[in-house]
Amino acid sequence: MNVELILLALAPVFVLCIGIEAWYWRRRPGMYSLKDTVSNATLALMHQGADKLAWLLVVPFYAWLYDHYRLYTMPGGWLGFLLLFVVQDFLYYVFHRASHRIRWLWAAHVVHHSSERLNLSTAFRQSLMYPVAGMWLFWTPMALIGFTPTQIVGVVLLNLAFQFFVHTQAIPKLGWLEYVLNTPSIHRAHHARNPRYIDRNYAGVLVIWDRMFGSYVPESEAEPCEYGIVDPIHTHNPITLTFHEWRTMARDVVTMPGWRNKAMALFGPPEWRHAWQAAQTSSAPANARGLADAAAAGGLGQLGDVAGVSQDGAAGASRKGL
Ligand SMILES: [Zn+2]
Ligand SMILES: [Zn+2]
Repeated sequence: MNVELILLALAPVFVLCIGIEAWYWRRRPGMYSLKDTVSNATLALMHQGADKLAWLLVVPFYAWLYDHYRLYTMPGGWLGFLLLFVVQDFLYYVFHRASHRIRWLWAAHVVHHSSERLNLSTAFRQSLMYPVAGMWLFWTPMALIGFTPTQIVGVVLLNLAFQFFVHTQAIPKLGWLEYVLNTPSIHRAHHARNPRYIDRNYAGVLVIWDRMFGSYVPESEAEPCEYGIVDPIHTHNPITLTFHEWRTMARDVVTMPGWRNKAMALFGPPEWRHAWQAAQTSSAPANARGLADAAAAGGLGQLGDVAGVSQDGAAGASRKGL
């Protein structure tokens, strides 16, 4: 079988599970919505099409790296598969964390988070812009350390296939598995926009990376998850959902003054634009106070860059409301 078709081959299983979950929640009307589910399915098909095209270009690139620049040749058998799985799952963690902290990548990933519902069909909600954002770049180290393109594509898609099953509110915490695997409970917290859950739980299959690198938060009964993004987008239109953050980002790049602001608009944290806008609407001393507060809270980590904004802002009050 062509490994690029793993997700399509599993589609009947996914659709069956969605049907069972929708039936399970039949007396909870808010859990599923036809418009939301159709939108998710459309986004999945758009994503699959873009992915198929991207593999046509990227697989030869992985093959070229593997043939000319690989450092080792990985073993076959179970040991080889174990290494392949662990390395890719770690790189997925890096990719996913970067997708939440770098706006260029967030512009694609935001699609997955933009629904205010969470059910198995939410797993279908993906962006066709991932190849443009550069998701494929994150797998290049695997070719360099000696995994074949087929192994790379296969394990990337198996990782995503696993993640389908964590998009549900029907399964409670799973005991000791919460220490090892990305579970429905852990991923529910990832999809929540409550401040305590934001930018946490980036796991693909193994949650050990979140626990090792300080990004783990357990789901708390005291604070139920509120799903969605901080700046909600109320539409089911797949085109709008796919491109809204790209459009806002492009507008910021065009209208913000100075190369540093433009670079931050592209590659800074997604919330940086709010700090920039706040800096535009305040006086210079107030900016300094607000920026100090932001730095103390550890929210931005880019004080120098934002301070640059406030200086620009003092001369740019007319640029309010971008
Ligand atoms: Zn995410
Ligand atoms: Zn998810």
